[in-house]
Amino acid sequence: MTSKIARFLIDHQPATPCLVLDVDRVEANFRRVSAGLPLARVYYAVKANPARPILDRLVALGSSFDAAGIEEVEMCLAAGARPSQISFGNTIKKSSAITRAFAAGVDMFAFDSAEELDKLATCAPGSRVYCRILVENEGADWPLSRKFGTTIANARTLMLRAAEMGLDPYGLSFHVGSQQTTTSSYEAAIGRVAMLFTDLRDAGMNIRMVNLGGGFPVRYRDEVPAFDAFANAIMGAMVAHFGNALPEMLIEPGRSIVGDAGLILSEVVLVSRRDPEDPIRWVYLDIGRFGGLAETEGEAIKYRFTTQHDGGETGPVAIAGPTCDGADIMYERSNYRLPLALTHGDLVEIQSTGAYTTTYASQKFNGFTPLGEHYI
Ligand SMILES: *Cc1c(COP(=O)(O)O)cnc(C)c1O
Repeated sequence: MTSKIARFLIDHQPATPCLVLDVDRVEANFRRVSAGLPLARVYYAVKANPARPILDRLVALGSSFDAAGIEEVEMCLAAGARPSQISFGNTIKKSSAITRAFAAGVDMFAFDSAEELDKLATCAPGSRVYCRILVENEGADWPLSRKFGTTIANARTLMLRAAEMGLDPYGLSFHVGSQQTTTSSYEAAIGRVAMLFTDLRDAGMNIRMVNLGGGFPVRYRDEVPAFDAFANAIMGAMVAHFGNALPEMLIEPGRSIVGDAGLILSEVVLVSRRDPEDPIRWVYLDIGRFGGLAETEGEAIKYRFTTQHDGGETGPVAIAGPTCDGADIMYERSNYRLPLALTHGDLVEIQSTGAYTTTYASQKFNGFTPLGEHYI
C-alpha cells in the first residue's frame, strides 16, 4: 500500500468493496519497465485496467496501448492516444470491430489463423499484421496457451500469405502466460520466434518486429523475480539470437503496470465454522469470485490479505465471497491463515489488486453493487 492510499483510506473511509488505486504508482511502474527494457516500446495491455485516469496518465507518459476489443481502442483514442500508438492485439475480432478500428486509423493487428487473416485483408487492407506463436506457458499462474497462438510451421505459411494478400507482414508475437514467474520462459519463446523470424527474412520478407507480450508478475502472497531479472533474460536472449541486427521490440505489460498500484478494501461479512469442532474457519468477505476477484478461479492468483489484527495469533481459514453461488469460494486449498481475532464488520485489505479486478466484477449478481473504484 502506498502512503497516498493509506491517507485516502483514513480521510475518506470509502464504502466497501472498493478498489483504491494510486496513479502515481502506475507512472512509477511504467517508468521502471521502460527503463529496464529501453529498446522495447511499451504497449500497455488495457484489459488489465482500462480506467480513464490510468489511460490519461499513460498517454501523458508516451505509452502505446494493446487493445483487446474495439471499445478499448475507442477508450484509448478518447484518452488522447494517437491511432498509431494502438495495437489491436486480440487474435479474435469481429469484422465490424476491425472495420471500425481501421476507420479510426489503427493499422496494427494480431492474428493466429488463416480465417482471421482473411478478415484483416478485407476489413483493414494494407495494415501491419503480426502472427501470434504458440509458446509454452509453464511457470505462469494464469496460462493463455490453450486458447491463442499457432505453430511455427503454420505461422510461416500465414505470414507468406499475408504478404500475398497485400497486408504488411510486420512481425511475430507470443505471450508466455500471465503472472509468469520464470524468466526462462521468455528465453525459450524468443528462441522459437527467432528461428522463424530469420527464416522469413531469408525468404525475402520485410518482417521487422518481435512482440514479447506481457506476463511480468506482481508480488502477491509469494515473492516473484524483479522486473530487471526478466529484462536481463530478454535482452540476453535477443542478443544471443539476433546479434546486433535486433528487430523492433514491443512489450505488452498489463498486470505489472497496474497490479501493485491498488488495493481492494473489503468488509468481513461473517466468520463461522461448518461445525464447532472444525478447525477451519470460513471467512466470508463482501467481495468474491463474482465481485471482481475472478482470478481466484482454481486458486490461481493468491492474493495477500492484511487486517487490523495482523501480528496476533492466526488460524487456518477458507475464504469465500458473499453470493449465494457455491462456486464463490476463493481459497480452500491454499493454506491461508488469518488472525483468530478477525470478526464480522472488520475491514480487510486485499493487496495488489489493481489488475484484472474492476472489469471482472459482475453486474449486480444477487443485487450486489459492482466494485467501487477510486483513482487518486
Ligand atoms: C492479457 C494480455 C497481455 C497482458 O498480460 P499481463 O500478464 O497482464 O502482462 C498482453 N498481451 C496480450 C495479447 C494479452 O492478451
